[in-house]
Amino acid sequence: MTVCIACGSTKVEPFLDLHETTLANKFLAPEEIGAVEPRHPLVVGFCPECSHVQLTHLVPPAAMFEDYLYISSLSKTLVGHLHGLAATVIERFKLGADDLFIDVGCNDGTLLSEAKRRGVRILGIDPAKNLAPLAKKNGVDTLVAFFGTETAAKVVAEHGKASVVTATNVFPHIPVLDDLVKGLDVVLKPGGVFVAEAHYLGDLLDACAFDTVYHEHCSYWSLHAAQYMFQRHGFEVVDIQRLPIHHGQLRLFAMRKGEGQPTAAVATLLAEEVKRGMTGIECYRAFAKRVEAIREELHAAFAGFKAAGKTVVGYGAPAKGNTLLSYIGFGPEQLAYIADKSPLKQGRVTPGTHIPVVGPERLLADQPDYVLLLAWNFADEILVEQAEYRARGGKFILPVPEVKIV
Ligand SMILES: [Zn+2]
Repeated sequence: MTVCIACGSTKVEPFLDLHETTLANKFLAPEEIGAVEPRHPLVVGFCPECSHVQLTHLVPPAAMFEDYLYISSLSKTLVGHLHGLAATVIERFKLGADDLFIDVGCNDGTLLSEAKRRGVRILGIDPAKNLAPLAKKNGVDTLVAFFGTETAAKVVAEHGKASVVTATNVFPHIPVLDDLVKGLDVVLKPGGVFVAEAHYLGDLLDACAFDTVYHEHCSYWSLHAAQYMFQRHGFEVVDIQRLPIHHGQLRLFAMRKGEGQPTAAVATLLAEEVKRGMTGIECYRAFAKRVEAIREELHAAFAGFKAAGKTVVGYGAPAKGNTLLSYIGFGPEQLAYIADKSPLKQGRVTPGTHIPVVGPERLLADQPDYVLLLAWNFADEILVEQAEYRARGGKFILPVPEVKIV
């Protein structure tokens, strides 16, 4: 039985079945091929009580986050974004040397190092043991733990109460949020604010980004569901911002009810969600139909390539590419290899589908006829980088929001 992460109801209704898949970040080294890869159902459901959208089968977070390979400071865009967030929060809430600034899921300390530079007291919290030394190098002390009431009480005893708690890209990952929000009530001082960023469900629907769905992401947040959840715990969303990063994020500011004055932006986005039908399941059933259509179009296109003797490979090996490959049912027979810039992934194969990952120079060396772009969210950048391949007649296939060849 699925329990709604936002409201606790047991009425979560499945609307999109992406089949059983392996964990999307478990790229295999050559010696690991052949070992049993655990598979988990990847099904998305809608809660009619609070409009929350989430997975119906949750994988325990310990299996995914205690050894984490994604490091914030490797992306220039992300570093700029996180430093900007630190500045925004410190200026808006007029934080000074007496204020404690906590970042939950602090990763390598990128956000907090900027807060520290601006003279605020800081504390990082993250369950990934491998990241704490990296954060330390950036001048950020980390408590290696999941955040909840227990961790919050420990923090208050050792450091006092916090003025601000941030959590970027953490909220979608947590299968049980009640204890996290209760922890906020323990750790925040009166008038304190919680700032969360998560990919926004409205943007996911616009881009038909069904491949954003994988087991690390338990929740796909709308403002409706977030507001419902916070209100259940005596908090409320007092402001929101839409952000272009990661193909559409929502930044929300939550405070204890009555401690802040909600802005017009909150009411506006809530109204927009109702207008779009995001509070009813029909909207999501229509989304599932679009996803199905993409699968059929890709199959038809690849059947045509095969009949014409064309060669096809993939570009980009992000975690989400594995949702797409597994759902479409593509393996090495359809894509001889996938080119990716990350040396950590080259030489490995994709989880479940076992497509070899190679360096991007292979595109020019082999000049395949078509390239399926799995990292479609970086299309602009990649099409420019691969100008030579395209000038020689190579074509890219963009899978979403609908299949397009460029
Ligand atoms: Zn619910």
